[in-house]
Amino acid sequence: MHPKHVPDPAPPPPAGPLSSAYLAQLLDAVEQAVIATSPRGEIVFWNRCAERLYGWRADEVLGRDVVEVVPSEMSREQAGELMERLRAGERWEGEFAVRRRDGSRFHAWVADVPVLDDEGRVMGIVGVSTDLTSHVETQDALVRAEGEARRERERLWSVFRHSPAALALVRGPRHVFELANASFVRLVQREVGGQAVADAFPELAGQGIAALLEDAYRTGRAQVGIERKVQLAGRGGEVADRIFDFTFQPLPEPDGRTEHILIQLSEVTGQVHARRGAESALRAADEANRAKSQFLANMSHELRTPINAITGYAELLELGIGGSLTAQQRHQVERIRSSSQHLTTLVNEVLDLAKVESGQMTAERERVPVADVLAEALTLVQPQAARRGLRLADTTSDARDAAFVGDGDRVRQVLANLLSNAVKFTEPGGRVSVCASVTDEPDGDARLPGAGPWVRIDVEDTGMGIPPERLSTIFEPFVQVDDSFTRQTGGTGLGLTISRRLARLMEGDLTVRSTLARGSCFTLWLPAAPETEPGHAGRRWPRAPYELPGLGEVGRALTRVAEPVAEELGRRLAEDPALPSANRTDRVQLQDHTTTFLVEIGLAMVTLDEAGGEPALMRDGTEIQRVISERHGSQRARLGWSEDELRHEFQVLADVVVPLVRAEVRARAAGEVDVDSALGVLERLLQQAETVSLRGYRNAVQRQ
Ligand code: ADP
Repeated sequence: MHPKHVPDPAPPPPAGPLSSAYLAQLLDAVEQAVIATSPRGEIVFWNRCAERLYGWRADEVLGRDVVEVVPSEMSREQAGELMERLRAGERWEGEFAVRRRDGSRFHAWVADVPVLDDEGRVMGIVGVSTDLTSHVETQDALVRAEGEARRERERLWSVFRHSPAALALVRGPRHVFELANASFVRLVQREVGGQAVADAFPELAGQGIAALLEDAYRTGRAQVGIERKVQLAGRGGEVADRIFDFTFQPLPEPDGRTEHILIQLSEVTGQVHARRGAESALRAADEANRAKSQFLANMSHELRTPINAITGYAELLELGIGGSLTAQQRHQVERIRSSSQHLTTLVNEVLDLAKVESGQMTAERERVPVADVLAEALTLVQPQAARRGLRLADTTSDARDAAFVGDGDRVRQVLANLLSNAVKFTEPGGRVSVCASVTDEPDGDARLPGAGPWVRIDVEDTGMGIPPERLSTIFEPFVQVDDSFTRQTGGTGLGLTISRRLARLMEGDLTVRSTLARGSCFTLWLPAAPETEPGHAGRRWPRAPYELPGLGEVGRALTRVAEPVAEELGRRLAEDPALPSANRTDRVQLQDHTTTFLVEIGLAMVTLDEAGGEPALMRDGTEIQRVISERHGSQRARLGWSEDELRHEFQVLADVVVPLVRAEVRARAAGEVDVDSALGVLERLLQQAETVSLRGYRNAVQRQ
């Protein structure tokens, strides 16, 4: 009851008939509209609730026709008829829509009761109406909610039925199928409704499926099968191996128990077979690739032996060891030698590529100073650049002391290849430069797995450049932009392929930028090495391959006298007035270098002589001589020697070595030996060493 309408505390009811004021207060307290009319329908009483419900004040409606004031959905006739019946003393009640003063409608429950006098004549009518709005709204909402729930159920059922996923619902400890959608029936090729799993699928016995269902039922935890092989009967009863992914998902009841399990099934037989096929094809391809690489490795090895012999013998012929040559013969021998050198390069590169591709190529992970490899690579191409009249420069400025993590030999190989390309593809008068720097931000086209920082080494030339559309293909095997040009200059089209693979093997990359007719810039990216104590070179000193088979007489003699030669050389140099006075340390250092170096020359000669020696060792030997000679040159530069003094030193070495070797051969040789020719080869090798030393010397001077 609304407090506003609580009547003042009622006075005690007077004895005898109640006063009309008392009755009016009483009726005002009622929470229903009470309207009293005369038998003709004129309003004679209109309580507070009627005022609120219909929006009219009592003084506005008293005396007016109730049908006018409270119009209803009843027609006038119906209303008239109702009044007639009331006047006749009948009671009426019912629900109908009525209108408020403001025109809005609401549902009312109305009870009309005739009021009779003592003689039973109708003296008026009392109507009591109740607002049913909230009741009706609740009723409507209930109906709507039920409809919604029904539609929701229908939707879910429709999703379940039409789902492309095979779904079924089983119930109870025997797992009886309550529902199974069309996809499920199609997949298992049988009707299952109402049957227990064990009855619907007798062939599953002993396959562990029932145990999984049981687990799901018992534990309430989902059980999942992935790519599970199941033997399932087809329509005709024949049992076949099929592969399924499935889930047994328990659906908890409100009390937490599991009663239902949702089975979701999908067949993956086709996919699994296809994938396994692809995997085995891939394995076979890998196998074939490895076999191919192995074949190439073997072939390269087999090829290199005779090619080395051809090169070696051509060199011997050129040296006139087998007698002097005519100009024409010399020219032809030179052709043999250069062709076989080209072949050697090709074979070596094919072997390298095969190794990288088959994952057999490994790279050291050492800290290598950039300056070292740059100097070595520059030394290698110096003669080639000089022949072509090109300027060769190292423009590295602040990264002089930088170092990378990788394999020094491989990096030198890459740089030598880039530099020799730059020299090859640049016209005389042009310029080839290298520049190393350290950066945290590599170019966008560099594919670098690490987090940086990186050492970048740019090899730039002012040459012919590369057309933009060829920039990506030049890293593919055997691709050359202009093969007619390459026919003149040599080259295999493998250098860049190998170089990029090597760079990536060391977790770096090789990229290129180029403008046609302006020049190219190849950039080698390598992981930068963290700084360590200065002066730590971190480079392995190449060790000599001493276990060579038979050596030529002279080569053998040279290895035997290497030590006495080195000692004698040290002694002479110390006393030589033409040289800066060498202190003891210098002498020891020099002697060490010289002994190793002479032994290596001896070994190389033996290999050359026998041509059947291990060619890889022959290569290593030459490599070691190169490194020793070069270091020797740079050491002399550090000691402040001049170029002339270095040349003089080699002259002294030749003076010492030739008679000692000659004496040794004479003393030991069993059969006929052409000592002079063999010594000619030795002298030639010493000349080469001198050239390399001079390069090392010049580089060191440049760096100082
Ligand atoms: P090769 O030099 O043995 O032919 P590479 O793989 O080293 O093989 O190089 C492939 C091709 O890329 C070369 O034939 C040449 O057409 C092009 N190329 C490489 N370096 C340069 C350069 N510095 N300037 C112009 N073209 C180059």
